[in-house]
Amino acid sequence: MSKTLQAIRGMNDILPGQTPVWRYLETSFARLLDQYGYSEIRLPILEFTELFARGIGEGTDVVDKEMYSFLDRNQESLTLRPEGTAGCVRAVLEHGLTGGGQVQKLWYAGPMFRYEKPQKGRYRQFHQMGVEVFNQPGPDIDAELIILTARLWKALGVSEAVSLQLNSLGSSEARARYRDALVAYLQQHFDQLDEDSQRRLTSNPLRILDSKNAQTQSLLVEAPTLFEYLDEESKAHFEGLKARLDAVGIAYEINPKLVRGLDYYGRTVFEWVTDKLGAQGTVCAGGRYDGLITQFGGKPTPGVGFAMGVERLVLLLETLDCVPKSLTPAPHAYLCAFGEPAEQAALKLAEELRNSLPNVRLLVNLGGGSFKSQFKKADKSGANYALILGEDELAKQVIGLKPLRNDEPQQLVAWADLAQQMADYLN
Ligand code: ATP
Ligand code: MG
Repeated sequence: MSKTLQAIRGMNDILPGQTPVWRYLETSFARLLDQYGYSEIRLPILEFTELFARGIGEGTDVVDKEMYSFLDRNQESLTLRPEGTAGCVRAVLEHGLTGGGQVQKLWYAGPMFRYEKPQKGRYRQFHQMGVEVFNQPGPDIDAELIILTARLWKALGVSEAVSLQLNSLGSSEARARYRDALVAYLQQHFDQLDEDSQRRLTSNPLRILDSKNAQTQSLLVEAPTLFEYLDEESKAHFEGLKARLDAVGIAYEINPKLVRGLDYYGRTVFEWVTDKLGAQGTVCAGGRYDGLITQFGGKPTPGVGFAMGVERLVLLLETLDCVPKSLTPAPHAYLCAFGEPAEQAALKLAEELRNSLPNVRLLVNLGGGSFKSQFKKADKSGANYALILGEDELAKQVIGLKPLRNDEPQQLVAWADLAQQMADYLN
């Protein structure tokens, strides 16, 4: 017996029952970014492995353990993108979009791939909606990114369930000084560190701050904080950001341990977190990456961005019962036709109706059937009206218009008047 084919673990089908909420999120996001004057960019899903190794950084979980990499038929190492920033930076450089200090405010949405342990809110194919802005060095844009995400939470009705965590990672020099101090401190407690953190002490010590291990966390309570090492410019930048968030009334919590999983961040980092989804509580994360573009061989170019996890937002909307009921509106009408000539005329009538009323949601009965069975399907479709075309109606060029949700009687409407009549019923 042949084995049943199954999807790959951690890669989900998004079934028709779920796509409306996905579309709702995606269109809400696109509309929001239109409002703020951002342009969409669409990027390949496959890139050369080197892009991510260089961009995200060796020693990060993503590059060391989570990438889907393979050799193509030409023996080149390719990787399914684990995130959107590296590809976006490559694209803007390749097409000269940031040359001469041009500002770019871009957004994207699409699937990302990471070989992680699948669990609620964590998958191997997941989806992000993200923003990247280039050539805006000030705290004003950092504030705008946070402000626009806050607007999205409000539109989605989840504001109460998410909170903002902020930190500044300072300049790379400040981070280097801090790294030394942190390593010196943790070295004294080396034996008490969990295995991952012991390894990171040489490869990527800042990531230890992010450790989920309880004993490591307790050691970190006494550790020096990045804050004490911040350079003056980064401090001023951070103050500028906080002042702007205060001005528009966005609450935040400073989290000195917030370091983010990817290496390219400096200065501002932020996360929107929720306690409604268990362990996978970060729904949106981002920050500033002024050093990344030079790493790719470009001229120094400020960059800042964020990405939100669509699966986690879907879960959050469902958990909070915030999925609007109107996402899958019932059809306005269901057109029943009896016999071959009527079926043909019905198709033509339906097209004319759709021409006149572009917003009409009209289902045409397919596969024939008795009066009873077609009526049953009309009722089940949720339509408010059945349109009925039989031999008699065909001969007289009229159509039966029968309300399905109240007791009003059927009326006969001339074909020429149908669009006019139906127009009153659209909502
Ligand atoms: P985490 O700490 O949860 O692993 P991360 O720091 O690796 O997150 P980012 O690379 O910053 O995540 O990605 C931005 C957002 O994308 C996350 O905040 C989350 O909402 C979502 N995300 C990341 N990885 C996954 C995944 N494997 N499955 C579902 N969503 C994810
Ligand atoms: Mg991760």
